[in-house]
Amino acid sequence: LSDRLTSTFSALRTKGKLSPADVDGTVREIRRALLDADVALPVVKDFTAAVRERALGDEVNKALNPAQQVVQIVNDELVGILGGEQRRLQFAKTPPTVIMLAGLQGAGKTTLAGKLAKWLKADGHTPILVAADLQRPNAVQQLQVVGEQAGVAVYAPEPGNGVGDPVKVAKNAIKHARDKQHDVVIVDTAGRLGVDAELMKQAANIRKAVDPDEVLFVIDAMIGQDAVSTAKAFQEGVDFTGVVLSKLDGDARGGAALSVASITGRPIMFASTGEGLDDFEPFHPDRMASRILDLGDILTLIEQAQKSFDEEDAKRTAEKFATDSFTLEDFLAQMQQLKSMGSLKGMLGMLPGARGMKDQLENFDEGELTRTEAIIQSMTPKERQLPKLLNGSRRLRIARGSGTTVTEVNALVNRFEQAAKMMKTMAKGGMPQMPGMGPM
Ligand code: GDP
Ligand code: MG
Repeated sequence: LSDRLTSTFSALRTKGKLSPADVDGTVREIRRALLDADVALPVVKDFTAAVRERALGDEVNKALNPAQQVVQIVNDELVGILGGEQRRLQFAKTPPTVIMLAGLQGAGKTTLAGKLAKWLKADGHTPILVAADLQRPNAVQQLQVVGEQAGVAVYAPEPGNGVGDPVKVAKNAIKHARDKQHDVVIVDTAGRLGVDAELMKQAANIRKAVDPDEVLFVIDAMIGQDAVSTAKAFQEGVDFTGVVLSKLDGDARGGAALSVASITGRPIMFASTGEGLDDFEPFHPDRMASRILDLGDILTLIEQAQKSFDEEDAKRTAEKFATDSFTLEDFLAQMQQLKSMGSLKGMLGMLPGARGMKDQLENFDEGELTRTEAIIQSMTPKERQLPKLLNGSRRLRIARGSGTTVTEVNALVNRFEQAAKMMKTMAKGGMPQMPGMGPM
């Protein structure tokens, strides 16, 4: 998938201007990428229409080439729908703040209750968990275990405080929390395997009874195309103020995030990324956008490349490759450009296509780059232009001047000659002058 997108973008890269045909081709690929990520079809349609309109619109940014422009638009729109800036929890003016959790059975509500409690406790709050799931036989006990792990109090039904009636339990729990000065109450509720009228009614009644400051709808990121119908049912049946995406540690690409945010208009507030209580974080729209598109941090890469890579420079270098006038001076300039783009390892790691090269990257020695630089800088301008001048005594002088050995100097000259030869061949064959290093 990312290969497909990458090749579409590199096809655009060679053209000077965005034509409707360019845009449509790219939009088709984006549509396919979103469907692959399990984004719901109506959401995909709206999204691609918005991208197309913007790409063809008058927001031409002269600083960007067409490919960069499309990537930027796609990313902007994705981040926009996913919530832009992340939203924080709303706390009550008069404590306790009540947070109610809702969602299907197995979505991750009870686990989330523990995660939230632990997170809030670390932030100086005194949360209490409320077991208002009286449906599953072990639900109360499960919450008690989670509460113990998080080191927070748990309010469970006991004879006299509403056994069998989750609405009563929840109501009593708020009173209890106020008495015991808990400033946040997290109400865990029951879920069913599917959307169910009785369940919705119960959740709605709990909501009415506790008047929560936040109702968080917890949804399993693996739910795929069902995300839309489930989210809609909960919005109509209970309504919620925010969304929590769980099980993001699985291989779900996160299409559910885009579907739910787009259909309900509610912000995604947290991401759950594992069974442990620490596998939890505030939601980052930008990271999710990259995950959905599977483009790695390609935008960052483009930005970096743009800063340090002047297109004219690159063109001139390409001409030199073709005409045999490529010198050690150019070799050095290229290397300095590489260095100014940041850590080579980090940069290659951002390219989706380069992720598989990880082993090779581990072996890449950045110190060698620095030594190469030192060697070339120890040469006279004439030697850099005409490497053939480099006889034994010159090489010895260069080795001394650069703090290296003659063997290293020899190796560099050999590498340069090979590179120059290879690039010359490639340039004549119309290939990019340096894989991945051309003008982006
Ligand atoms: P509930 O029915 O909505 O209360 O869901 P639970 O909190 O009981 O979670 C159901 C199952 O999913 C449990 O086995 C959890 O350990 C697991 N689970 C919850 N959140 C996550 C998550 O973010 N990642 C993974 N891998 N498992 C999770
Ligand atoms: Mg539960």
